[in-house]
Amino acid sequence: MRPSGKGPFPSPQESTPRASGSPARRPLASPAPAQPKAGGSQADGGEWCVLVVEDEPLARTSIRATLSKEGFRVVEAESGEEALGLFDAAAPHVVILDIGLPGLDGFEVCQKIRAKRVDTGILMLTARTDPEDKITGLTLGADDYLVKPFNPGELIARIRAVLRRSVLMNQAEEPLAFGDLCLDFQAQQALKKGVDVNLSPREFLLLAILLRHPGQVMTRDQLGKEVWGANHHGNARALDVFVCKLREKIEDDPTNPQVIRTVRGAGYVCG
Ligand code: CA
Repeated sequence: MRPSGKGPFPSPQESTPRASGSPARRPLASPAPAQPKAGGSQADGGEWCVLVVEDEPLARTSIRATLSKEGFRVVEAESGEEALGLFDAAAPHVVILDIGLPGLDGFEVCQKIRAKRVDTGILMLTARTDPEDKITGLTLGADDYLVKPFNPGELIARIRAVLRRSVLMNQAEEPLAFGDLCLDFQAQQALKKGVDVNLSPREFLLLAILLRHPGQVMTRDQLGKEVWGANHHGNARALDVFVCKLREKIEDDPTNPQVIRTVRGAGYVCG
């Protein structure tokens, strides 16, 4: 992870896409997030904006109180339609999105937000215990999910993890090249010999982490936490399967990988 001297994640200034000199990211329909108003404790994420989409007033009030206490700027919506209407103007860094909503449900809202921006963190809230719900949410582009009821500390920790990942995705640097591979952060695409290899956001993130640290062995636990956040639970096998799928997309010969190499007993390394 990119080092930050200030706290658990970089300041919004570091995360905001460059305002000029670089094209808007696909499929960026809205302008880059405005610099959030100053306020709150910077080290604790005081300048980050969170859009809370929750139809139950009590739950919404409770989430707002938790976030405000931590210094987040909070915008509220009680329906998916209202959230989408507020989204462009509010330019939230993270959306907390309840699945069970009147009208458009959380899944539909998640898809529509992803179509607007790829770099907004989305944390879904579910009261349901069906694991399919979680998988559906993650497939549609959510970064993480939280099962109700949750405690305030867990909510804050999840938001921070989502922010760290979206900040990493958001660092609109020059494209990173490795052999015939090129990671284009503006387009959020990985190109092999100039052809898009269609990585999922998480695959792109994993590859970006490794390519940003060439020659540095990353443990499975480190990588799992970066890619899946707090829901990782140290499942090394899941990461191995994930890396296998990624290799099939980017390696000339996935059985003899040259981009993502396994370091036995340690983890993975690029280069
Ligand atoms: Ca609800």
